Amino acid sequence: MKTIYDYTLEELQQNIKPSFRAKQIYNWLYKKYATSYDDMKNLPKELKEELQEKYPIDICKIVKEEKSSDGTIKYLFEFAGGHTVEAVFLLMKDEVKDEDGNIEQGGKYTFCISSQVGCKVGCSFCLTAKGGFTRNLTAGEIVAQIKYLKKLNNIPENKSVNIVYMGMGEPLDNYENLVQAIKIISDLDGLAISTRRQTISTSGISDKINKLANLDLGVQLAISLHAVDDTLRSELIPMNKAYNIQSIIDAVKKFPIDTRKKIMFEYLVIKDKNDDIKSADKLIKLLSGIPSKVNLIYFNPYPDTPYERPSRNNMVKFQERLISKGLLCTIRESKGLDISAACGQLKEKTNGDT
Ligand code: SAH
Ligand code: SF4
Repeated sequence: MKTIYDYTLEELQQNIKPSFRAKQIYNWLYKKYATSYDDMKNLPKELKEELQEKYPIDICKIVKEEKSSDGTIKYLFEFAGGHTVEAVFLLMKDEVKDEDGNIEQGGKYTFCISSQVGCKVGCSFCLTAKGGFTRNLTAGEIVAQIKYLKKLNNIPENKSVNIVYMGMGEPLDNYENLVQAIKIISDLDGLAISTRRQTISTSGISDKINKLANLDLGVQLAISLHAVDDTLRSELIPMNKAYNIQSIIDAVKKFPIDTRKKIMFEYLVIKDKNDDIKSADKLIKLLSGIPSKVNLIYFNPYPDTPYERPSRNNMVKFQERLISKGLLCTIRESKGLDISAACGQLKEKTNGDT
């Protein structure tokens, strides 16, 4: 059954009479962070009862919350069917206050959001893949993660935040719900998060990248490339057999991006697999002609993985090579390591887990 969080404002305006009520509801939900119809003071009692029946609002429970020493907070959301996913609040820059308590410089926040319970892609280096695939999240479940992260961290409604769809799941494998969620989240009468501040991270489903390109939503794209030859990439990401490196590069070249923006390429660095200078040179060649930015990620090991974390020395040499050829390249700082909130450490907690 659909919940109130599954609808765009236009859809609610068509379904709720009189239609001006829809905007009031949106305002309560997304600007005042109301979580029950009882809180919506300016709605008539009969309407509240009708809404309660037709548009459920109790969509999730937050069953666990863990705070890292670096300010990262990981939330475990429970949705219908008892399924759980994680959403991570990342503090990129602290808020700075002057002596009088006035905000001198605002904080910078990034929310890492899940799109599926589990994942079908089955990457050999990823912990999420180990648990298999359970189900897609609904649009409302994607929206709710963002609303609750804003609410729980007292983020003022007009404060902009960045969204990265890099939590559990492959966002483009849940295409329709993701697109609906993006429409809801970016509505100026709602959470008002610009599509330019939303980044979809994908393991490279080329035909869905093409489909997304045609919609021209203005979202940012991050490609989990990880390898420069198809043999290694297919070992890491089995789906590469269907959507190889060239098909991804072709799709990316057609993707509409703002002239000031770049496509992000994520490159997971694994010791003795892809951490050599030859790979760096191949990567430079592959990306030539694409406005790109490379984000090098240290492989995060977990028990029973055959892969190892690369040395810092190799990481830095790889980065320097890219930069020397004019590519923008950063090394991703792993945040929230002490609470396993870092990349590839998100996994559904079943009842048996501690
Ligand atoms: N499915 C999407 C988004 C979720 S994964 C994707 O693959 O892009 C988010 C990021 O975490 C991806 O870049 C993924 O490659 C990375 N990741 C997965 N396992 C990891 C691990 N063990 N160590 C470091 N990064 C990992
Ligand atoms: Fe899925 Fe991304 Fe993990 Fe691959 S890295 S299994 S696509 S979540």
